[in-house]
Amino acid sequence: MSVLKILTFPDERLKQVAEPVIDIDEKLLTFIKDLEETMRSGPGSVGIAAPQTGCLLRLAIIDVSSKPDIKSHGRLVLINPEILSWDGYAVGREGCMSVPDYTGSVIRAERIKLSAMDEAGDEQKYEMEGYEARAVQHEIDHLDGLLFLDRLVSRRGDLHKRKVYKKKGDK
Ligand SMILES: [Zn+2]
Repeated sequence: MSVLKILTFPDERLKQVAEPVIDIDEKLLTFIKDLEETMRSGPGSVGIAAPQTGCLLRLAIIDVSSKPDIKSHGRLVLINPEILSWDGYAVGREGCMSVPDYTGSVIRAERIKLSAMDEAGDEQKYEMEGYEARAVQHEIDHLDGLLFLDRLVSRRGDLHKRKVYKKKGDK
């Protein structure tokens, strides 16, 4: 397994629309392992989408189970995911491995129904809410060439520079 290089804003490849996965073959399964390792290498990362590594396929992984006190399905590989319905909305803070220096406040649907293929090629349906639903909407945006930066209501009020903790002795 290997950790893949993450493209960062403003790389043009992050703006491209990804293509559906046709074959779930050995090569793709290896890529999924690498993609997951890459996700887990980012501190606090709860999701990753293939286009973030320059692979323009409709494939994402999420796992929000490390966050305390939320409902989740655990680790999910989402192949050709599609949101079937949206319900409610909420504002929440999001970060992204492709936008390492900022977080932003974004409006997302509170509950979604989702269909996606799993690694075995079986069609699955999920109902999600809250943080997990937000993470999925964020990752599917990557498949459509969108970053959370594209969804800020106002760039002035909703974009926040990440705090950099200086070491003792730094100026
Ligand atoms: Zn992201």
